[in-house]
Amino acid sequence: MYSQTVNKLINEFEKLPGIGHKSAVRLAFYVLESPLDVAQNMASTIIDAKNKVKFCSVCYNITENDPCDICSNKKRDDSVICVVENVKDVVAMEKTHEYKGLYHVLHGSISPMNNITAGDIKIKELLERLKDDKIKEVILATNPTIEGEATAMYISRLIKPLGITVTRIAHGIPVGGDLEYTDEITLIKALEGRREM
Ligand SMILES: [Zn+2]
Repeated sequence: MYSQTVNKLINEFEKLPGIGHKSAVRLAFYVLESPLDVAQNMASTIIDAKNKVKFCSVCYNITENDPCDICSNKKRDDSVICVVENVKDVVAMEKTHEYKGLYHVLHGSISPMNNITAGDIKIKELLERLKDDKIKEVILATNPTIEGEATAMYISRLIKPLGITVTRIAHGIPVGGDLEYTDEITLIKALEGRREM
């Protein structure tokens, strides 16, 4: 129905998360009907972000500076590490303005159903960080889903023998919920109500 070039553009948009065929066609035509500089700007912004944004070599949050601004901030409490599944969870936690410690982004959770094992997420990198005597507490803030709970249990078993306090955020967050979509008050309460594992 469309030319090969247009189909290629539609295909690219269809690869984006949450974009079905209809939306991809709409986006493709938005680009085609836009002035050239709009399309050029969009393309160069994508390339620019890919070139500049990387993962922090300490906490695996996204950053333009390595270590990231949180890891290198001397005012943060470097005796506490909050473990989250995704980069977006760091943003959610930061929005509360309550948490002053450091983070560790796992980039996923253990999920046998999806063939994701402990080795596929940043667990050994976390254990490596815990060799630093400064760390006194690890807060497990993985999502209250089956995968998030299993991941928290797995990590707590590895950390407890190290003599570091392991806590799990409280369940103000609905079961099956996402940290990312939790409102700030609920998240603050969940953090305050954390219990030792
Ligand atoms: Zn960092």
